[in-house]
Order: sequence, then C-alpha cells, then structure tokens
Amino acid sequence: MDIKKIYMGADALLKGHFKLSSGNHSEYYLQSAKVLEDPQTAKLLAEALAKEIKSSDIEIDTVCAPALGGLIAGFALATALDVRFIFAERVNGEMTIRRGFEVDKGERILMCEDIITTGGSAMEAAAVVKELGGEIVGVAALANRGFCKREGSDIETQANCKLPQDIPFFALADFTFEMYDPAECPLCKEGSEAIKPGSRGN
Ligand code: ZN
Repeated sequence: MDIKKIYMGADALLKGHFKLSSGNHSEYYLQSAKVLEDPQTAKLLAEALAKEIKSSDIEIDTVCAPALGGLIAGFALATALDVRFIFAERVNGEMTIRRGFEVDKGERILMCEDIITTGGSAMEAAAVVKELGGEIVGVAALANRGFCKREGSDIETQANCKLPQDIPFFALADFTFEMYDPAECPLCKEGSEAIKPGSRGN
C-alpha cells in the first residue's frame, strides 16, 4: 500500500511552496485530517496499522487518543484491533480523561494519534492514563513526521522527540520533509511565492 499516494489523492499531502506556522518554508504540507474524510480510507489505513501492531507481540486492552486530532484514527484503530476506545481532551489547557471513562489498574493502553510530530500531546494524555493506573504499551499513528523513530524505519530519533524509547511506536509511513529559513529557501530562489495552506493554517 502506497501511503503517500493515498494522502496525496486525498489532498492530505500537498506539494508546492508553503509557508508553515513556524514561519519556515517547505515544499510539502500535511493536513492529516483530510485523509480521514473518506471513512473507507480511514478504515483501510487503520486496518493496515492494526496488522502491523498485531504482528508485534504487545497485548492491548484499549486504545486511547488525545482529542481532537487522534479521535478518528484512534476510533478506527480500536475497531480494527477489536478493543475498547477512550479519549483524553484538554480542559483549560490541561489534558484530562472525563465522560465517565475509567481505566483499570494495569490496563494495557495503546496511545493513538493521526500524526506524530514530536509526540507531545500523546505523552500528555499518556501521563493521565498512567495516573489512573493504566500501563502504556505503545504508541501508534497513521503518519510519522519523522522526528521519532517508528518500528521498521531506519530514520533516527531527533532530540525533539517526546516519545519514550522503551515502548514501540507504530506508524504507516514517515513524512519527512525539509523546512527552510525563508532567506535560504530554494523555492523562493527559483522565484515562486510561498503560500499559507488552509484558511485555518492547520
Ligand atoms: Zn520559500
């Protein structure tokens, strides 16, 4: 399965000349929610990810996703793995688990995101799960932005990766692309102008 082609086809991976929210320029832009717009594609991707996870030897009781980004991917993955699904959400900036969701002591929980950049939100949610007695057995995402090393990939973990190194990280593909200081952007040098993708910048 060509994951990047699926993202491209769904306009979830754009190629051009983009101005990122950081101010840097890039030839690519990932708007990962777009790939889940088609429920059948979401199902297909989640099943591929579940297959990869099942081939490892970790046991999972529950998938937990941080809202909002991880909700659809997490739900689809839990369906494919045939396990329980819960989510964490921010209340006044603080990650919490509400809505009557309970976590048993020793419950084996897989954290799931649509995309892992540094893994910050996933780890904030994981900390809440652990406080409630759960055990984090792994992290999963449909896409990996390339700062953390996933199972089966040879890219190296970067200093900004927040995922723990002692649990597996599963993702379908690495979306690693160069970011340029506008002053040194080769696309600017070629004469094109960087555009801000999406009206909401995300
Ligand atoms: Zn540029």
